[in-house]
Amino acid sequence: MRVLNLYGVNDLRYDEIGMPERKNTEVLLQVKAVGICGSDIPRVFDKGTYHFPTVIGHEFAGTVVEADNTDLIGRNVAVFPLIPCGECSACQCGRYAQCKQYNYYGSRCNGGMSEYIAVKKENLVFIPEGVSCKEAAMCEPVAVALHAFRKACVGIGNTIVIFGIGPIGLILAQWAKIAGLKNIVLVARNRDKVEFAQRLGFLQTINSSEISVRDYVLSLTNGVGADACIEGTGQSATLEECLLAVRNFGKVVTMGNPVEAITLSQNAYWNILRKEICLVGTWNSSFTEMENDWKDALAAMQCKQLDVLPLITHEFTLEQYKEAFSIMREKKELYCKIMFVIEE
Ligand SMILES: [Zn+2]
Ligand SMILES: [Zn+2]
Repeated sequence: MRVLNLYGVNDLRYDEIGMPERKNTEVLLQVKAVGICGSDIPRVFDKGTYHFPTVIGHEFAGTVVEADNTDLIGRNVAVFPLIPCGECSACQCGRYAQCKQYNYYGSRCNGGMSEYIAVKKENLVFIPEGVSCKEAAMCEPVAVALHAFRKACVGIGNTIVIFGIGPIGLILAQWAKIAGLKNIVLVARNRDKVEFAQRLGFLQTINSSEISVRDYVLSLTNGVGADACIEGTGQSATLEECLLAVRNFGKVVTMGNPVEAITLSQNAYWNILRKEICLVGTWNSSFTEMENDWKDALAAMQCKQLDVLPLITHEFTLEQYKEAFSIMREKKELYCKIMFVIEE
């Protein structure tokens, strides 16, 4: 079968490998769609995976073609990519994202940029009727965005500011719309991204290289500030803007993977103290019976409250991987989600 196999840093290959051997605890999935995550760019070009070669890709969906339980055959599924150890204290209370000894499809073991993959039954999320595999391959960023949105503790009539207009920022804005927020401010430093968000209907999208986010937010809120700010870029300057734009007792959610050492000016730090800001982290998503960001994600897609299709700006076959990855690495043209669609 054909796969995208990472042989070392900056050595991704369109490769032919043997079919995976399915264990009793797994099903064999024929992958139909798999997205490139922002985190795949440093994974491929800078940091590598835990061992080589590794088939990458953790945002995927497909059809079950082989399973011990024949009822599963033919079902379309998305896949929660984290395989928890099941034994550590975090796993005991269902906090799999905090597992100390997890495995992960697409970084610690073979992932979804592959024609087939053997996946543990516990990691399957069944796709409801009316949702395509392409949409379901967006389930991971949709779940991650929902998880972050829940941390902001905002609702009807509130103001949220989201820094970073990638797929997760734009999906988070959709969750905010569903929740009835009054002001949904999206912030980027790039004009094309600002226009893209505006075309998707988020008219309160601003370019922070042109106007002050703090001033804009204060003008929207009678000088009060935002109820919550989401830091989605992993940069010091953005965290600082969050701290300045949030109201007294407001929430700042740190979501973006840090791209540098995060430092703050003395003034920004004073803001945390004087405004008694609540700084809260978010990581991955919830996947339990009690709270399941993945099921909520698919349910919102099914009832058309949430539309991920406009975010898929590029589609490629696995064989076209060089072009797909270079768009994200070199940033020469506007993109949002780039997806491999695998034909049978
Ligand atoms: Zn991802
Ligand atoms: Zn664990």
